[in-house]
Amino acid sequence: HYGEIALKGDNRKFFEEKLVENIKKSLQANGVLFNYVQRISGRILVELKNQSDAEKAEGALRKVFGITYFVFAGQSQQNIENIKSKAIEILKYENFESFKVETKRGNKSFALTSQQINEQVGEAVMEGLVKKVDLHNPDIILYIEITEKYAFLYTKKNTGIGGLPLGVSGKAISLISGGIDSPVASYLMFKRGVKIIFVHFYSNQQGYEQSLEKVRDILRVLKNYQEKIKIYFVPFGEVQKKIVLKTKAEFRVVLYRRVMFLVANEIALQEKAKALITGESVGQVASQTLDNILAVEEAVSLPVLRPLAGMDKIEIINMAKKISTYEISILPHLDCCSMFAPKHPATKADLKEVKNQEKKLKIKKLITSALKNVTIENLT
Ligand code: ATP
Ligand code: MG
Repeated sequence: HYGEIALKGDNRKFFEEKLVENIKKSLQANGVLFNYVQRISGRILVELKNQSDAEKAEGALRKVFGITYFVFAGQSQQNIENIKSKAIEILKYENFESFKVETKRGNKSFALTSQQINEQVGEAVMEGLVKKVDLHNPDIILYIEITEKYAFLYTKKNTGIGGLPLGVSGKAISLISGGIDSPVASYLMFKRGVKIIFVHFYSNQQGYEQSLEKVRDILRVLKNYQEKIKIYFVPFGEVQKKIVLKTKAEFRVVLYRRVMFLVANEIALQEKAKALITGESVGQVASQTLDNILAVEEAVSLPVLRPLAGMDKIEIINMAKKISTYEISILPHLDCCSMFAPKHPATKADLKEVKNQEKKLKIKKLITSALKNVTIENLT
């Protein structure tokens, strides 16, 4: 079952088809065999080949954006006798004393009303399994949904991760560091249906390979949500050296970041991506004051999405734990941004002054050379 997609008007079919495609991929990736995945009215129907795959299927569906909840249902023909025996078949294995039946009737041409179905199925269960009805505080609820063709019966709703199906919102470039914030930012944009290509900047100092491996480890976790992961590793040491040599120390961090954004913007244009994503949170550190955000973003033409802008560190950490990137993010790594970072970086970098400083660099050449030495990897 999906939530928001239902609101999408003319685009609804497109959203639903994307969701079907993503469900198939996730089931396949988790080794779950199925007969079909198809759209039916207001929901997606999956028929598993083997009931024993239910647990694996549950794991797979929990990672698919766009699902608000999902259920493992028994399927019955649309006649009341069949529905009754299916109800008993399902409840036979459950441990309960009291129960109630809740029917939703999508197919209004079905001969009985929801209330009549509740009563008749309830009676059959009372007699067949010797249990009692409790409408207010039952041990178990048997849900029955009458759709166009079939009736579906189940007892438990599993919460999905919500959001929009991955891919419906186009593509963006995420600047990923080895830190806590940027993986969470990427996750949140996945959740809004955005496909992501990653960019990481590193400086070629001792031990850097290990830091790249850490970034790969984080991406392997994000691979749970997006099957294919592509990453650009961009060498940044030369850029930093030039900035350190030619410009005032207090502007270093802002200038590093402008060049990072410019390189990412170039990659975005090549990849036909429509936005950049960062893990910035307003005011968290010196480079993330509104003045500095302004001074950095001015360099690029694409919109910069900052899904963590209004979150505090504790909220971000909790989310990083939830998506299982936290434990990797807190391992030590070389942070190229803090390399040669001055003791007192400007917290309110004046844009005019920043641009004057930037003029001392051959910025086009720096970008071209960084791009020339990029390594592209596809994680498997
Ligand atoms: P994070 O926890 O994501 O590292 P942070 O709190 O350390 O963030 P900064 O170091 O100021 O903050 O980085 C802000 C954002 O800039 C990051 O969230 C990320 O999107 C981007 N960024 C920083 N360093 C790199 C890098 N080496 N490569 C790619 N992007 C980076
Ligand atoms: Mg960082």
